[in-house]
Amino acid sequence: MVTDITADVRRLLADLKRMVVSEDGLGLAANQIAVPLQVFAINPAGADAGNRPYCIINPTVVATEGSVEREEGCLSIPDVYDVVSRPELVRIAGIDEEGRSVEMEATGLLARAFMHETDHLNGVLFIDMLGEVRRRLMADRLRKIEARELRLSRERQSQTAESE
Ligand code: ZN
Repeated sequence: MVTDITADVRRLLADLKRMVVSEDGLGLAANQIAVPLQVFAINPAGADAGNRPYCIINPTVVATEGSVEREEGCLSIPDVYDVVSRPELVRIAGIDEEGRSVEMEATGLLARAFMHETDHLNGVLFIDMLGEVRRRLMADRLRKIEARELRLSRERQSQTAESE
C-alpha cells in the first residue's frame, strides 16, 4: 500500500502518465515498469473518455456489473490480442494523486482498463483468462513476463508485511 504521496511516488505518477501516453496505451501499472507499488495510470483518450492521463493509487474493485467480451491487448505482451470477458461497469476505490480517497466508476473500454490494470497489480495477466491451447502457444514468452511481474508483486507484499 502507498501510504504517503512522497517525492518518489510523485515521480512514479509522472512517469506512468508520461509512458502510458507515449506508448499509446490505455493503462499502465507500476509493476509493469518494475516499481512494486500499488499504482496504475489511465490514458482516457484511448477510450474516448477524456484527455488528461491520471493515476489511481491502492486500487480495489468494489463493484462490478454485467459482462462484455472484447479483444484486449497489453503493453507487457506486444502483438498479442485476445478476447477477454470483463464487466460492463466497474467501481474502483483508491486514492488520487493528492492522497484523497476516491471512488471512480467506469463503463465499457475504461472499465476494461480498470480491471486489466488492477489485475496487473495482483500479478494477473489477461492471458491467464484465455483457454489452455491459446496459452500454450504463447507459453515461453509469457512465462518470462509473468515471472517478472509476480516477483515484483511479491516484493511489494513482503515490503508491506515488514512495515506492518
Ligand atoms: Zn497490461
